[in-house]
Amino acid sequence: MTGNPVSRRDVMRGAVAIGAGMATGGASLAHASPALAAESSALAVAAPTIASCATWGAAAPRGTISSVTTNPNKILVHHTASANVTDYSQAAAYAHAREIQQWHFDFGWVDSGQHFTISRGGYVMEGRRGSLGKLNAGSGAIVGAHCPGQNSAAIGIENQGTYTSATPPAALYNKLVDMCAYICDQYGIAPTQIYGHRDFLATACPGDVLYARLPQLRTDVAAALNGTTPTWSTIVDNTSSGFAAGANWSVSSYSAERYGADYRYANPEEVSDLATYSATIPATGNYKIETWYPGIAGYNTSTPFIVYASGGSQVVRVDQSTGGGAWKSLGTFALTSGAKTVAAVSRWTTTTGYVVADAVRISRV
Ligand SMILES: [Zn+2]
Repeated sequence: MTGNPVSRRDVMRGAVAIGAGMATGGASLAHASPALAAESSALAVAAPTIASCATWGAAAPRGTISSVTTNPNKILVHHTASANVTDYSQAAAYAHAREIQQWHFDFGWVDSGQHFTISRGGYVMEGRRGSLGKLNAGSGAIVGAHCPGQNSAAIGIENQGTYTSATPPAALYNKLVDMCAYICDQYGIAPTQIYGHRDFLATACPGDVLYARLPQLRTDVAAALNGTTPTWSTIVDNTSSGFAAGANWSVSSYSAERYGADYRYANPEEVSDLATYSATIPATGNYKIETWYPGIAGYNTSTPFIVYASGGSQVVRVDQSTGGGAWKSLGTFALTSGAKTVAAVSRWTTTTGYVVADAVRISRV
């Protein structure tokens, strides 16, 4: 591909446009040419760390694994429908991959059915043997066993847990974005072609909550592919060094929609008692500021967030009784460079219900 004036990223933009048209026009999505797909020197997105079958200790396949030379044209998102464990370690992730493989042997299958697995702690693992090599080559695919009719055309990703009512942990979701972006990039798949298992089979998989997250997933993957991923971004969680709050802010891990291990909450009161988020802003400019909180009925519907923008502080009120477990934008603000308090959660509201300080993400735009 040396000397080709069309950058890979430009071609990916074309693929995205084709995919968007497909949704309304019904035309089939053209595959990227093998030569293009095999190019790896100009990746638009970085490959996440993916543990191979050998790394996580897979047993040998119990039969012949088939492959196809055509590239897959979509991604199917699954949940494993297993327990929402709280052991987020690499060891637990690898053990889960071995457990799934054994379940699938018990079905009489030759190997794990899915192409890839993501643990609740955010570890990505190869599923059916050979899937990783094909993906890294960007050419052809292993035939999986994750959805009848789609096993050659769709890359199947199993996400550890049950997401019928629980929210996927941030570590899992963020890695799902990275993994889908890498798969789309390697195979020339448009991010519009990310689906849930239930789109092709009568099944609850991947659970109502994860299924409802797919539009956001497509958007996040498209952003990564289009290079609109922020050039700088930082997350200040309530356990980060940039976070500070007084003793009246209690610690809780009650809601599964929390970011990280826990979050802080306090009674609303007309007192000056802020939970603050500090970061070192790399350059003067505009930054998008988002918050992640567990949304629970009864939490404050008008929690005051203060953003210390360069033109003066601004208050943005957030309804924390709903819409949790995801990044919610407070807006885009002008910030000056340097180490500083960027945002805060205030208790000063007359609205009832706990005010919550969980995580804040600051991204250069
Ligand atoms: Zn499924």
